[in-house]
Amino acid sequence: MPSLSEVISCLSDYDPNALPVAQAQQIIRDVVTPVEAVEKVALRSALDRVLAHDIISPINVPQHDNSAMDGFAVRGADVGPDKAATLRIIATIHAGGGFDGEVQAGECVRIMTGAPMPQGCDTVVPQEFTQAAGEGEVTIPAGAVKTGDNRRLQGEDLKAGKPALAAGKILRPADLGLLASLGIAEVPVRRRLRVAFFSTGDELRSIGEPLDPGCVYDSNRYTLYGMLSRLGCEIIDMGVVKDDPATLSQAFRIACESADAVITSGGVSVGEADYTKQMMAELGDVTFWKIGMRPGRPMAFGKISSNGRNACLFGLPGNPVAVMVTFYFFARDALLRMMGAEENRLPLMRVASESPIRKKPGRTEYQRGIVATGADGVQRVRITGSQGSGILRSMSEANCIVVLHHDQDTVHAGDMVDVILFEGLV
Ligand code: AMP
Ligand code: MG
Repeated sequence: MPSLSEVISCLSDYDPNALPVAQAQQIIRDVVTPVEAVEKVALRSALDRVLAHDIISPINVPQHDNSAMDGFAVRGADVGPDKAATLRIIATIHAGGGFDGEVQAGECVRIMTGAPMPQGCDTVVPQEFTQAAGEGEVTIPAGAVKTGDNRRLQGEDLKAGKPALAAGKILRPADLGLLASLGIAEVPVRRRLRVAFFSTGDELRSIGEPLDPGCVYDSNRYTLYGMLSRLGCEIIDMGVVKDDPATLSQAFRIACESADAVITSGGVSVGEADYTKQMMAELGDVTFWKIGMRPGRPMAFGKISSNGRNACLFGLPGNPVAVMVTFYFFARDALLRMMGAEENRLPLMRVASESPIRKKPGRTEYQRGIVATGADGVQRVRITGSQGSGILRSMSEANCIVVLHHDQDTVHAGDMVDVILFEGLV
C-alpha cells in the first residue's frame, strides 16, 4: 500500500486548503489497509463481525425437493388445466419423514409442508383446493395447479459447493441464520479493530468534574464511543488530554502503540494556539486539510508511528456536530476498510424538501433533517432548526442527514434532496 505522501503526490489538483469531500475520501481509501488477523468465533459471536473467508456451502439447502404446502403430492400430468381428476391416496408423508415407493398414474400422496416429495411426483395441490371424494380418494378440480407448483427444489436456497457468503460481509441476523442452515458452528472473522481516542482542549471537563467558568463538558468522547461501538470496534478511551507538548506526545505514542487507529477531536483548526497539530506532525506522515464541507472544515489525516508500531490517525475537529459528520463521512469508511469489510456505501434516498435550503456550490453540506410523512401521505424532509456545528441537539433531534452535494445550489421547496437515514432495519 502506498504512503500518504505517495498518494498525494500523484494528484495533479491537490489543494489541502480547499479539498473537495470526494477527493479526501479517495485519498483516505487509497491509504488505509485491512488488518490481516483472523479468529474463529462461535456462530452467535459472529454477529456484526466481518467474515474473513468465503463460505462454501457443504450441503444442499434444502436437501431434497419438498413440499411448500400441506396438501397432496401429484404427478403434474394427472391434473390438467381442463379436466378434474380423482386420485387414489396411497400414503401420507410428514416433515422429516419419507416414502420409499414410486407414485403411479392415478395415485397421489398426502403431504405436509417441508416433507420430501415422493418419487414420481412433481407438483403439490394445496389442501384447500381439493374436494373430498370416496374413501381413500381426493378430487382435484380442473386448473387447480400447474406442473411444478408448490414444490421447493433441492438446493434452491443454497447449492452444495457454491459460495454462500463472500469474505468481507458484515454478518447480520440473516447471515447467522444462513450459516446455521448449513450446520456451521464456528465462523472465521477478522479480528476486531482497536481504536484509541482522546479529546484535546484545556476548556474541556470530564463528567464528574466541576464545570469551571468558560468550560464545557467533553461530549465528543461519548458520541465517539457510541459511533465506534456501533461499528464493532474495540475501544480505548484515553480521556481528555491537556494542551501540553509532553502530555500530548505521550498520549499520541500510547494510542499509536495500542491501537490500529487513533481518533482525536479538537485542536486542528487554523489559528489553534495549542500543540495538537505539532505533535501529530512530529509522529508521522500527517496532512492537515481544510475540506470543502460544512460542518467540519478542518481535519488531520495520516499515519503515525511510535516504537515500531503504526496507526492510522484521524484528527477530527472539535465542534460536536463536526465530529460526528467527519466521523461518518471519512472515518467510518476507512475503519470499515481496515476491518476488512467489503465496500459499504450508505444508500442515499431521494425525498422532497419541505422548505427552501440555502446552499452555495463549491462545498458539501451535511444538514440535519427530519423525514416525516405529511397529512397527504407524502414523505418530506425538514431541517432541524439551527445548523451550527456546536449545536449537538440538531443531531439528536434529527433522523437523517441531508446531503447537499459539492456542485448543488440552493434548494427550493418541493425539490428532491438526498438523505441518509440514521436507522436501518437490521
Ligand atoms: P477546536 O476545534 O479545538 O477549536 O474546538 C472547536 C469548538 O469545539 C470549541 O468551542 C471547543 O470548546 C469545542 N470542543 C472541542 N472539543 C470538544 C469536546 N470534546 N466536547 C465538546 N466540545 C468540544
Ligand atoms: Mg481546541
